[in-house]
Amino acid sequence: MSVDTGKLKCKRMTKQRRVIKEILCSTKSHPTAEAIYVEARKRLPDISLGTVYRNLQVLLDENAIIELNYGKGFSRFDGNTIPHYHFVCQDCGRVYDVDAPVCEEILKMANTKIPGQVTLHRLEFYGRCHNCLEKFGRIV
Ligand code: ZN
Ligand code: MN
Repeated sequence: MSVDTGKLKCKRMTKQRRVIKEILCSTKSHPTAEAIYVEARKRLPDISLGTVYRNLQVLLDENAIIELNYGKGFSRFDGNTIPHYHFVCQDCGRVYDVDAPVCEEILKMANTKIPGQVTLHRLEFYGRCHNCLEKFGRIV
């Protein structure tokens, strides 16, 4: 593909991309591509799932969103690019933001142990969320 075609494509995708970015910035649910697609269709009825995937990739390349890959064949997306931790409920699959500062100590520790330069880290907590605790009780 020539550079010009790419540019043209980018221009055409701008509105769709903006809508996708807005969807991601207006929710804390860390939606999957399919959930973003359902939401996007309310505003852009002609949008296809393939277009959603393509625009998510462009936004990822621009560091405008974050991909949370849980290795089960689907990813979740986050419009909040400020480093923060996540808590994953192993019962309902919901992904929550953890309202705690990112631990700089871990980064320092990693930089003393890893031969190279560590610039960021990701940390995921797993367990049972408050909704599921009410339903199923504590894990013994
Ligand atoms: Zn849950
Ligand atoms: Mn998040």
